[in-house]
Amino acid sequence: KDPVPSDIDISRAQKPKKITRIAKELGILEAELEQYGHFKAKVNPKAVIERLDEQIEGSTQEIGNYILVAGITPTPLGEGKSTTTMGLTQALGAHLGYNSIANVRQPSMGPTFGVKGGAAGGGYAQVIPMDEFNMHLTGDIHAISAAQNLLCAAVDTRMFHEYTSKSIKGFYNRLVPAKKGVRTFTPSMLKRLQALGIPKTNPNDLNDSEIESFAKLDIDPDTITIKRVVDCNDRFVREMTIGEGKNEASKFPPRKSGMDITVASEIMAILALSSSLKDLRQRVGRIVVGTQRETGVPITAEDIGCAGAITALLKDAFKPNLMQTVEGTPVFVHAGPFANISIGASSIIADKLALKLTSPSNPINNQQKGFVVTEAGFDFTMGGERFFNIKCRASGFKPNAVVLVATSRALKLHGGAPDVKPGQPLPEEYVTENLDYLKKGCANLAKQIANIKQYNVPVVVAVNQFETDTPSELALIQQEALNAGADFAVPSNHWAKGGAGAVDLAKAVVEAAKVSEQDRTPKFLYDVNKSVEEKLTTIAREMYGAANIELSPLARQQVETYTKQGFDKLPICIAKTQYSLSHDPSLKGVPTGFTVPIREVRCSAGAGYLYALAAEIMTIPGLPTHAGFMNVEVNDDGEIEGLF
Ligand code: ADP
Repeated sequence: KDPVPSDIDISRAQKPKKITRIAKELGILEAELEQYGHFKAKVNPKAVIERLDEQIEGSTQEIGNYILVAGITPTPLGEGKSTTTMGLTQALGAHLGYNSIANVRQPSMGPTFGVKGGAAGGGYAQVIPMDEFNMHLTGDIHAISAAQNLLCAAVDTRMFHEYTSKSIKGFYNRLVPAKKGVRTFTPSMLKRLQALGIPKTNPNDLNDSEIESFAKLDIDPDTITIKRVVDCNDRFVREMTIGEGKNEASKFPPRKSGMDITVASEIMAILALSSSLKDLRQRVGRIVVGTQRETGVPITAEDIGCAGAITALLKDAFKPNLMQTVEGTPVFVHAGPFANISIGASSIIADKLALKLTSPSNPINNQQKGFVVTEAGFDFTMGGERFFNIKCRASGFKPNAVVLVATSRALKLHGGAPDVKPGQPLPEEYVTENLDYLKKGCANLAKQIANIKQYNVPVVVAVNQFETDTPSELALIQQEALNAGADFAVPSNHWAKGGAGAVDLAKAVVEAAKVSEQDRTPKFLYDVNKSVEEKLTTIAREMYGAANIELSPLARQQVETYTKQGFDKLPICIAKTQYSLSHDPSLKGVPTGFTVPIREVRCSAGAGYLYALAAEIMTIPGLPTHAGFMNVEVNDDGEIEGLF
């Protein structure tokens, strides 16, 4: 039997279609497409959505089938969610004849040159050209860095100028400009005026001293929450002092700050959660940068006067990027928020665009609904939970089915088999038949199935098949999945065989989607109007199987502040390990009776969620000793080698 070649060799061997052809096959018009070279293009979502909405009267509610790919509690090797996303779309599109689109995140270059490697899928189920996918793509991440860094520069400079007492009146006239002769305050400005005890709503009514106190933001440097960003695993910028230049430091005290990786920025989360450019502009305006010293009122990007410019930097990044799989089916690559402190899913606008393109209102579909397959990062307790409670809450879309990816190796690990480590050979138990470990480990699969069922959606278990899996092992996983309430359970061999290996999985997905056709209203785990502590407790108990949560004194104080500021009615994202259902990576299988420690609670007011830390989270990774970048070269023809 021929071995499966390396991912880059498979990617290279496949001649991609011109992106104009992929667009045409999707029914995207020339004017709606912006090409970036031969194999990548941006699609104007507004133009496509508005055109298709007009196509059939009353069709605005019409959307295609929406499929979420999520995972069981994984091993550190990854269980193949991205690979399954690609394989399933290839099977639906290239083998069963549906219009089928994969919607995935854009990978950060930090992990690409660090440890993880790319995120294009693998084997015969991947996005091509893989090197372009894993590197700059069309520059969206660079645009996000520029936007976030502009905001940081604006905040520090504003504090500097206020400190060195530059014209306050000048700020005022700039921030409350006359539009068509009328000056108005934004809602956040009105809130600040109220806190300052200035009961006025017309900008022209303020006297000089009121203007002075209003325009002086007086941000407390110790409360600044935003950080400069870079898309590189650079541990040396985690903490640093800024403002040490002679001209600044002589007039204004330097302060401690640090940098995050770009994909951990709030702007990235906003890109993923905005449903239109207008919505993005408003969310950017709501980003809280710090608080006013005297009043404790949050100061926003809007107050700094920076939200319009940030939106200008992001207007192209907001358009989803079109690429293709090895079998020439379409893929949208868009946004890539961190999977621990953010939602770890691709964007709402890309989903909206793809769901329209796969709807009956697109003439190329001949009234047949197509499929949009998208992925939630990490395991279901993390990516999946946020997908429903944060992303679907913001978009209003509900998946027709969840495909839960399971592997024999992860299940054996949960059943008590020895640890697996990246870069080391798998222990014997994993490469020979072992039904005992496997059966025990299926308890984890059962809990994840039960978790998904809480959202009232059909579950299709995809057993991502490895070369060493035996027929009895595959049959056992299928049986255990069905016993646990999965609607379908099928082995899938897309890694070795491409879409042809995932046809059974695709057929199960088609059936599952029919079942849920009638009920497309999302169901959530909690009511956002409950208290922060109640929401945290619900997630910990219902998803993780915890007995309780425990807030640290710091977390308690933060919750109190956010409640006072009115940010407590937001959904919550809990950052924890993905290697256990619990917060403790060493607890395999289905742990019970544990208490989840909440160390801190932070707020992404613009993106629209709170996030709680149940573990120490690095917001910028470091490089390992043997880093990915060491293998990379470019040949004389400009082809990249050694990327994976
Ligand atoms: P995830 O998205 O869950 O992190 P990936 O799809 O990125 O996982 O897969 C992780 C790694 O495992 C990739 O290098 C991929 O090529 C490899 N892989 C996935 N499925 C298989 C399989 N069935 N057989 C062999 N390798 C696989």
